[in-house]
Amino acid sequence: MTATILHATEADIARAVAALARGELVAIPTETVYGLAGLALDPQALAQIFAAKERPTFDPLIAHVAPSPRGARLQALATAGLVDLALLTPAARQSAERLADAFWPGPLTLVLPRAAGVPDLCTAGLDSVAVRMPAHPVAQAILTQLGQPLAAPSANRFGRVSPTTAAHVLAELAERIGWIVDGGPCAIGVESTVVAVQADGECALLRPGGVTAEQITAVTGQPVFKPQTSPLALPSPGMLASHYAPSQPLHVLPAPLATLADLEVRALVQPGDGVLLLAGSAEDAARRLEQLLGTRSPVLTLAPDGNDAIAAQQLFASLRHLDASGAAQLWTEPTTRIDGLWPAIADRLTRASAPRP
Ligand code: AMP
Ligand code: MG
Repeated sequence: MTATILHATEADIARAVAALARGELVAIPTETVYGLAGLALDPQALAQIFAAKERPTFDPLIAHVAPSPRGARLQALATAGLVDLALLTPAARQSAERLADAFWPGPLTLVLPRAAGVPDLCTAGLDSVAVRMPAHPVAQAILTQLGQPLAAPSANRFGRVSPTTAAHVLAELAERIGWIVDGGPCAIGVESTVVAVQADGECALLRPGGVTAEQITAVTGQPVFKPQTSPLALPSPGMLASHYAPSQPLHVLPAPLATLADLEVRALVQPGDGVLLLAGSAEDAARRLEQLLGTRSPVLTLAPDGNDAIAAQQLFASLRHLDASGAAQLWTEPTTRIDGLWPAIADRLTRASAPRP
């Protein structure tokens, strides 16, 4: 099997919908990253997703639903057979409703009580299910025409760099899936923020992502908390230390490159190593490294002006680019900022550079 590339035309979207309805897998564009989609309520389709990705079955999937209007979004999750609304407390329901109204369609995933018919493979046997309403018009068209929810984890082999273009998906899964819909580069570039809505209406942040903690707090009026620092520690089984890993080892410099002394740089960065700056001029850094190391190194910057949205959008493509540059190892910088999308970027880079199992 070699994946056929489809485009965002009416005819190709109909082909993608037909393949999904038959229980096949289709890689689809979303605003976060490309997803490997299969029917969320069909255990056989789910089993194919885990097999194609080599994803461990303890790692639950996110179910994606078609767009629906404000005020009707929680009900749509129940109608789709995903969520049991009767198990929500009034406070949890109010928070979930506010979040769905404010951030859907968009890069926010809500963890809510599962409906009885959701396969265990989708939820990893948990009594909750993760749900999201994506904003990408191609994902929306497919979900609307299909009329069924889709599980869609990132369309890469497990543990590796997430794909933000159809070409990335092809490089990861060409021989393992039948179809890839090319919807252009993903606008956000990091995965969704995952929050679990608690009985008291507060939100536990299980994964930083495309919606910031500040944005969530502005809507719920309550601070989001990180479960590892809370006595109410919640399991989010997929949050492994090593993830998003390039083929070559990735290390984090002890401080931003521009602030390191020449001696320190020379002790760490070897000739030909790839360097991923979070901000600033790649050209300036490349020139300095050439002076210090005597040879030209591949250097990329996520956002020359330090813009977090641009940095997020460039993150995975930049990692892939440096990974393919021939460098024996890669370096990046520690994140000093905690606002906006920087926590999501820092999370991905920390795990991309974590020791591998
Ligand atoms: P992805 O890898 O982008 O498909 O995102 C799936 C991630 O969402 C998992 O690895 C978990 O961290 C989180 N998740 C999904 N379902 C649940 C759930 N029921 N409870 C807690 N976290 C979940
Ligand atoms: Mg993933």
